[in-house]
Amino acid sequence: MSIVEQIVAGDVRATARLLRDIDDRMPTVPKIMRELYPHTGKAYVIGFTGSPGVGKSTLVDQLALRYRQDNLTVGILAVDPTSPFTGGAILGDRIRMQRHFLDAGVFIRSLATRGHFGGLTRSTHDMINVLDAMGKDVILVETVGVGQDEVEIANSAHTTVLVTIPGMGDEVQAIKAGIMEIGNIFVVNKADREGSRKTIRELRNLIDLGLRRREDDAWEHLIVETEAVKARGIEELHQAIQKHRDYLMANDKGQLDDVLQKRARHQLLEALRDEALRTILDRLGARGTSLDDMIRAIVSKERDPYSLVQEVLAQELK
Ligand code: GDP
Repeated sequence: MSIVEQIVAGDVRATARLLRDIDDRMPTVPKIMRELYPHTGKAYVIGFTGSPGVGKSTLVDQLALRYRQDNLTVGILAVDPTSPFTGGAILGDRIRMQRHFLDAGVFIRSLATRGHFGGLTRSTHDMINVLDAMGKDVILVETVGVGQDEVEIANSAHTTVLVTIPGMGDEVQAIKAGIMEIGNIFVVNKADREGSRKTIRELRNLIDLGLRRREDDAWEHLIVETEAVKARGIEELHQAIQKHRDYLMANDKGQLDDVLQKRARHQLLEALRDEALRTILDRLGARGTSLDDMIRAIVSKERDPYSLVQEVLAQELK
């Protein structure tokens, strides 16, 4: 069997191998991804974003258990661009694996390394596609919501869940500043802590304000209160996701089409940016032009980055 056939058949080892190759940006990857692509499009992708420590992993674990009760298979991708250690991710995997240890219906993988020139977003898209082709019914993608990239990752899901906790006033402000545009469901986790009700009220107000400005958005932006460590509120979260899914699938205002187009656009632009950069760097390398020399010239003010970019593009994209 070819690696593509193995993955489509759900083979865990073949899948793990490909994910590793994606991480290492092996040249064999694009061809495999091309062949896998026709097998994608069946999974439901749910993105979770929020600051470190708000309880994303705990929520995702609980939700995975909930989906398993319905006999749905689950893929979990944990993306942590803030962690400089791959080792950290492996440790995290190991701890989580123990929970779902004997369950072949759950596949977990962490991504913590950003390649030399970015590319985390692209790897995440690729990995979502692999888990989709592998036949996972639901894919839960957990990202630390700190930078634009991470928000973009969440943006490529069908349903995006923004996770916060009580008493994070500045976080609510950040949500106000625009992240709200991408959240379909808001979770106030650690509801055992003081101030949960107040945070929910603040969120509700922000959502109502935002929605008044965007009349095209018929989705009501649900808020769910959870205590993930005790599995409290997980059923409500599950139902909220289901509700959003039903809303998308109705597609009466083209809402599912919008999501699919948004995802395809992100994937295409990411891949294009990545390949273009890689091609240019390869050509520069082949020509013996050193990036370090250019950097030194910029620092010493002999050159400026603007004209250098124009020069490189003119030469390498001829
Ligand atoms: P992440 O960084 O967002 O993935 O957060 P984790 O899921 O790793 O959780 C961070 C910490 O918060 C862990 O020690 C969890 O046990 C704890 N935690 C998660 N959910 C709750 C909750 O509902 N209540 C309380 N008190 N602690 C929680």
